[in-house]
Order: sequence, then C-alpha cells, then structure tokens
Amino acid sequence: MRDVQHLLAQNHFWATAMVGRDPDYFARLANQQRPHYLWIGCADSRLPAELIMQLAPGELFVHRNVANLVLHTDLNCLSVLQFAVEVLQVRHVIVCGHYGCGGIGAAWAYARLGLVDTWLQNVQNVREGHAMHLASLQSDVERIDRLSELNVIEQVSSACRTSIVQEAWQRGQALAVHGWIYRVDDGLLHDLEVTVTAAAELQPQYDRAVGTLPPFKARPDSSDGSARTAPGGDASRRAATTARSRRRPE
Ligand SMILES: [Zn+2]
Repeated sequence: MRDVQHLLAQNHFWATAMVGRDPDYFARLANQQRPHYLWIGCADSRLPAELIMQLAPGELFVHRNVANLVLHTDLNCLSVLQFAVEVLQVRHVIVCGHYGCGGIGAAWAYARLGLVDTWLQNVQNVREGHAMHLASLQSDVERIDRLSELNVIEQVSSACRTSIVQEAWQRGQALAVHGWIYRVDDGLLHDLEVTVTAAAELQPQYDRAVGTLPPFKARPDSSDGSARTAPGGDASRRAATTARSRRRPE
C-alpha cells in the first residue's frame, strides 16, 4: 500500500511554496514557538483548528481527542495542559466541541463500538448529570445538540478544576478558559459564554452558561419546572434564537 505518496508530494509542494513567499519562514519557526492559545478539541477530521481560525504554524498549541474531553485521569491531556500553561505560558485555553459529533452521538445512543465506549462513558455521565434538562427538549436532535453544548461547559469546568489551572491563577498568571462549539455545516464557531479567568468565577460562569442555554420547557407534571426556566435577558433571548435557527426537520 503506497497510496499515501501524494501526501508527501503535497507537503514538498507546500514547503517549497512557503519558502518561495518567505525565505526565512521555517528558520524563524525552528527557533521557538510562542503560541498564545491552547486548543482542546474533538479529533473529528472536520475540525482543523488552525484552518478555521486562520492561524499560522506556531500560533496554536493543540490537543484533540474524541469528544474533546478533559479528564483528570488522562495523563496525555494533563501533560499538554501543564506544558501549555506553565512552559509556553499560553493566555487562553479553548475547549471546543461541535454539533454532529460522532462521539457525542455514540454516547447518546449507548452504541457498542469497542474500546472507545469506555472513553465515551464520560459523556454519558454528562448526559445523566443533566437528564432533566435534556428530557425537557422536544426531540433527540435537540437533545444531542444540547449534550454537545453541555459537554463543552463540563469540560471547561474540568479544565478549571485541574491543579494546573488553579495554581496558575493562584500565582497571578493571566489565563482564561473558554468554551466554544463549532457547526460543521456552516463553518462557524460559537462562544458558549462560559469564559473563566479566576477560580472564583467558575461556579457563577458555569451556572450562568447552563442557565442561558435555550429555555427549559417545563412539563405540566413537573413541579420544579418553573425554577429551571432560563432567566430573561439578552443572553437567553440570543440563545433561544440560536436554538430556533438550529432546529432541523425531524
Ligand atoms: Zn466530535
């Protein structure tokens, strides 16, 4: 099987073109990297982080896994986070999920795919943690989209709770953790407005972000439904508009 030779040829073509435009391009890159951003995103092939944000090599430190999870037992993710925060001194950690995520869909369906099932148990934990919220939505399409959003918010919370981020804040390092979600079918990133820049901000930001997702629709037999209704304000109206525009035919 030698049908990957074209990838090497394309690489040579690209490198030659880059040097043609800027003879010192690779020499500068070889000296050091100074990215301001760490991206923790899904491994999905449709999310090329540098491309969708128009960033050049050297500008983005990247960790990707199925369903963009930040687990305190994942030595790989934690090592990337520690290196990015403490050595590279990134200023922003961006946790980014996406609608139409195969990992989220498989977790929702309790699919049996193999080893990855164990990994996706963590998404099922998010689902179970927000079971009432998800049950209030009208269709599985909406529930899976919402689970994708909630999963991002939970992973932002998880990143913020690591000793790496907590200690960075304690020593006064400027560091923001963000939660974004990407739509594969229009190429647009959306801010879930769960940006955390200090330990004390985490819980209020988490509560507000979950609360301003499109409104919880109380069921007639739900005694606590009214208490879970999203508060008014621009954020909730924006979110409700987003939800309506996101709704697809069933
Ligand atoms: Zn995905």
